[in-house]
Amino acid sequence: MVSIHSRGAVPMRFYPWYPAGMAGKKNIRGKVLRAIRRMKHRYDVRRTLGMSVSLGILFLVPISGLARVDLWRGDHALLFRSVPFKHGLAGVIVGIALMYVATFLVNLIGGRLFCGWGCPVGQVSRFGEDVDTPGLRPRQRHLAAIRGALFSGALVLSLLAWWVDLRVLVLGSPPALAIAWGVLLASVALTYAHGRWWRWRFCMGYCPIGLYYSFVSPSKRFGVHFRNQEASCIECDACDNVCPVELAPRELMASSGERPGISIDDAPGRNHCLECGDCVRACEWMIERRGDGPVPLLLGFFSGPQRLDELPAPTETEARLEVDGAAVEVVEPS
Ligand code: SF4
Ligand code: SF4
Repeated sequence: MVSIHSRGAVPMRFYPWYPAGMAGKKNIRGKVLRAIRRMKHRYDVRRTLGMSVSLGILFLVPISGLARVDLWRGDHALLFRSVPFKHGLAGVIVGIALMYVATFLVNLIGGRLFCGWGCPVGQVSRFGEDVDTPGLRPRQRHLAAIRGALFSGALVLSLLAWWVDLRVLVLGSPPALAIAWGVLLASVALTYAHGRWWRWRFCMGYCPIGLYYSFVSPSKRFGVHFRNQEASCIECDACDNVCPVELAPRELMASSGERPGISIDDAPGRNHCLECGDCVRACEWMIERRGDGPVPLLLGFFSGPQRLDELPAPTETEARLEVDGAAVEVVEPS
């Protein structure tokens, strides 16, 4: 990893994404995660709950008949009643739109909470990187791979249920069985491969919902905050090293610089933060082992000063702005 520090303590970090098999030597996030996951943590339960709610909704809406299209036997459903195809399709579209609206409302209050705690695609990445955890014995590695494959299977099945009655996987005619199993297995393989190899790069630069979240100004009161008033930070950098999307958790109010893919460059780090809590968990672990005083990183509501608030005021040169191509001096009120 190379760290370049610019403007006070605001770090811009670059490190390669480690392909499977190279994790043993270089995967710093993996090492930190391995250490902190040995201890039970409240976040484990909360993330399991969040994912259960997401998968539960994805399964229940079509299976209950609230909204479903059935490309197998034409048993389309809307509001628990059999309906023609176009009404079933309209129900599916409205259902998907309502789920997006729900996540956007969560975004207004809690920023990107959904990314860290409710998004099954993020969880696929989490299971995928478990396989690369440094120091695993072969049996543990296989178990991690099986867990990831099972979760990928559950996610694909839940999405498939919106478009076809899942009983086709057992009761379908030979052609229907071939198509249904072919789609299922190919989708599970792709989803699993996403978690193993693409992983957080998708969240960083290619997720359209994440792009929306980065674009709108998410909650500033809720999120990861660096409470450094008591100077309890031991500057161990564990938080930096564990962040899956290469942010600097202590400096989330600062610009995050250039970002990959379709994400927005130079937005505050807070806009890109998944609010996954990994940095907070790593920080709690470090303070418990080596530090003293309150844990400096917090995931929650906070209105106190951030580290950026404590940086020296910008010099005159730094305070130049470009407006429509013309340099404009910013004059601080006296
Ligand atoms: S800054 Fe912390 S909460 Fe945000 S994405 Fe990084 S590790 Fe997760
Ligand atoms: S993990 Fe906590 S103690 Fe370590 S550098 Fe980050 S904020 Fe400071």
